[in-house]
Amino acid sequence: PYDVLVVGGGPAGASAAIYAARKGIRTGIVAERFGGQVMDTVGIENFISVKYTEGPKLAASLEEHVKEYGIDVMTLQRAKRLEKKEFVEIELENGAVLKSKTVIISTGARWRNVGVPGESDFRNKGVTYCPHCDGPLFTGKHVAVIGGGNSGIEAAIDLAGIVKHVTVLEFMPELKADAVLQKRLYSLPNVTVITNAQTKEITGTDKVNGITYADRDTGVVQHIELQGVFVQIGLVPNTDWLTDTVERNRLGEIVVNSHGATNVPGVFAAGDCINSPYKQIIISMGSGANAALGAFDYLIRN
Ligand code: FAD
Repeated sequence: PYDVLVVGGGPAGASAAIYAARKGIRTGIVAERFGGQVMDTVGIENFISVKYTEGPKLAASLEEHVKEYGIDVMTLQRAKRLEKKEFVEIELENGAVLKSKTVIISTGARWRNVGVPGESDFRNKGVTYCPHCDGPLFTGKHVAVIGGGNSGIEAAIDLAGIVKHVTVLEFMPELKADAVLQKRLYSLPNVTVITNAQTKEITGTDKVNGITYADRDTGVVQHIELQGVFVQIGLVPNTDWLTDTVERNRLGEIVVNSHGATNVPGVFAAGDCINSPYKQIIISMGSGANAALGAFDYLIRN
């Protein structure tokens, strides 16, 4: 068996595997796609100490760093089941079963899409999911935020300080965000809130030039000219495969303690798939390192 088996090869998984391997213990990493969400990212400006990089370049550096250590890297493999027996067992979709004394789950998350025409065509060409990452790219421009929950309203408040104007589109008759956030939002001069709005299409040529929505009461269709659309309707953790083997919260995020440990002895988790409030590359890497040290601590005590 492995000492540490990491499931997931994004920033969290790569960091966890390197921290584990540096303890001289037998480490493996199994991932569907090495690099994770980073592979879908163009410009990255908030990976501290690197002023600017691009997703595929960062993913290649992660892989190169992992390969410096004797880590077993198994890509193009999906985990479908976890079971705790004498060891922790991970069953893959191809039927193989990997055994390990400890497992670190770092299967990440994916943004929920609105699923309208233009969304995928203009991804990274005006359509974005991360205000912390891409807000400054829209300085002085008009943008929309789709979604009036806490993340949408936090994004709108954040963006209002950077861009010229923010239009919030909420599907329901009222915003779902906390009252304190709504109060702050309504105090801002450069924000418009449209409720009962069903987004129909994101328009553009080579990049976004507008958004079309329908009023759900009247059916009247409106078009707004703008340059950016921030989709903020939820982040879905890739944890369905765990069913009820590991404790998850109501959002599906794996619940961990300060050592990155889950409720199952020997099973740790890190990155975007856990119950941490903020999801970023640098945070995932820190959490991967933390879980690996937690797993090492567990190994020397058991
Ligand atoms: P992920 O990157 O999601 O990696 C998950 C890994 O698990 C992948 O290897 C995946 O293939 C694998 N996996 C999933 N399910 C299974 C399974 N069942 N079996 C085996 N393997 C599995 N953050 C920033 O800090 N700065 C930015 O500029 C930035 N821009 C972004 C732009 C976009 C378009 C997106 C989508 C995200 C952006 N982020 C940015 C967020 C950042 O990418 C994530 O916070 C980070 O990648 C999370 O790392 P992770 O390792 O936890 O998960």
